Amino acid sequence: MNSLKDVDVAGKRVLVRVDFNVPTDKKGEIIDDTRIRESLPTLRYLLEQGARVIAVSHLGRPKGKPVEEFRMDKVAVRLSHLLGKPVRKVSECIGPQVTLEIDQMNPGEILVLENIRFYPGEEANDPEFSKELAGLADIFVNDAFGAAHRAHASISGVAEFLPTFAGFLLAKEVKMLSRIIVIADTPRMAIMGGAKVAAKLGLLKNLMKKMDVIILGGGMANTFLGASGYSVGKSLHEEAMFGMARELIELARDVQKKILLPIDVVVADRFANDAERKVVPVNEVPDEWMIVDIGPETIELYRKTINEARTIFWNGPVGVFEFENFSVGTDEVARAVANSQAVSVVGGGDSLAAIYHLGLQDSITHISTGGGATLEFLEGKALPGLMCCNYKRKMVV
Ligand code: ADP
Ligand code: MG
Repeated sequence: MNSLKDVDVAGKRVLVRVDFNVPTDKKGEIIDDTRIRESLPTLRYLLEQGARVIAVSHLGRPKGKPVEEFRMDKVAVRLSHLLGKPVRKVSECIGPQVTLEIDQMNPGEILVLENIRFYPGEEANDPEFSKELAGLADIFVNDAFGAAHRAHASISGVAEFLPTFAGFLLAKEVKMLSRIIVIADTPRMAIMGGAKVAAKLGLLKNLMKKMDVIILGGGMANTFLGASGYSVGKSLHEEAMFGMARELIELARDVQKKILLPIDVVVADRFANDAERKVVPVNEVPDEWMIVDIGPETIELYRKTINEARTIFWNGPVGVFEFENFSVGTDEVARAVANSQAVSVVGGGDSLAAIYHLGLQDSITHISTGGGATLEFLEGKALPGLMCCNYKRKMVV
């Protein structure tokens, strides 16, 4: 990929696509500024090099028109605190006012543009809009890994009109995610759980080529259990995916990869923390009950297996971890991943929440903040935000 280090940015106007899409409360207050902090290495570097930095991001889903609660003002204030220097903010992304502000900037100063998704041209990837945006700058730096799977104007559109380079966060994510699928030590394991089964089966299929063991939990495991002929009662599962699940089971058999499924499960009579619950072998799930967690024997099996891994990718909790009574399996998987000697990568909003809840983040090699982008990258899809930085996927070894 084109690296930011390869270009002289001193005095240049540099448009930086960052991911400032932070979670906010109903008043628009920032709940968690991780994403802003993740962008600091690139922004600090550009400022130190004497670039005139123009930062742009989306925030929330304003759907192509200005929405007050999604303005970038509070983000700019937080950024200013984090950088320890003044940050200017304009209430548009293009037009004479923006140009005027940029003309007045000195090297080493930073300006934050308005929420780019206030413009319909952003998500439509309108070339005219991209061209106008590109006209603000001499160089484009893409550092928004979390949005790299979107072919939007501020991600890949502007790259048609400007020399384009990958920012440090983008480069770090690509390096770390590539590490687990390209140059990983064996045995390599993927732990997949969670709720979005249909959306994640493509990823699971690709991981199967690269991993030695696939460990399943959550709605994903329920779907594979159902596809294997077990009765899963009222459990979350996707019957429409049974065919695909069977294909993957056969594929695993053909290429001699292991798929681990729960051998015992925690079942509940309702979807509530205080529901009646019991542990049953996986072939004895009562019709009116639902699987909400993996059982103790499964925890033991998974823990032992994870302990032998040299490379781990984890996405998706193995139970309804939001309910304390059903969080044991997910907590134990998280601890096993954190305690292992393996290179470990964790991705996915809920999986990260489980890690942070236990304070285990420092024991994970790489916490991927990409969400959908992380999953699509590992699935082997071409991400527009990477392709425009001249990304070339290495051969799988
Ligand atoms: P991530 O955000 O890590 O990518 P997902 O969004 O796919 O993960 O899935 C997380 C959700 O899956 C959580 O809300 C969790 O409660 C749910 N889940 C996990 N196991 C089960 C289960 N057995 N039954 C119902 N929901 C489950
Ligand atoms: Mg989620």
